[in-house]
Amino acid sequence: MISSLRQESVCEFCSDTGWEVIPGAGARVCRCRVKDKRASLLVRAEIPKRYEDCTLLNYNPQGDNLRFDEVFQSQSYALNDAQTLVREYPLLEIRAIELNTAESPADGADSG
Ligand SMILES: [Zn+2]
Repeated sequence: MISSLRQESVCEFCSDTGWEVIPGAGARVCRCRVKDKRASLLVRAEIPKRYEDCTLLNYNPQGDNLRFDEVFQSQSYALNDAQTLVREYPLLEIRAIELNTAESPADGADSG
């Protein structure tokens, strides 16, 4: 029953071949497959249902933000790192290389 319903909605861009022809340019993976892949990746990520509405925009670090305690500090840095990851994703490899070359062993640390 379900498969017969699915067959009725053939993709208007690729006729369910998975390839969308771009006149004069060739072909590319159809937008229906990209959408399916996103949905599939989301399912495979196994994000618990209770977090499905969570985003970086509605996340608030726990802890005492007035004293900037250890918990708040740690979660704030994690939030900042996550926002940076999302914002700069294609450049992340370059940035990681820069960080690795900039970091050096913590020798010569001040003891007091
Ligand atoms: Zn399609």
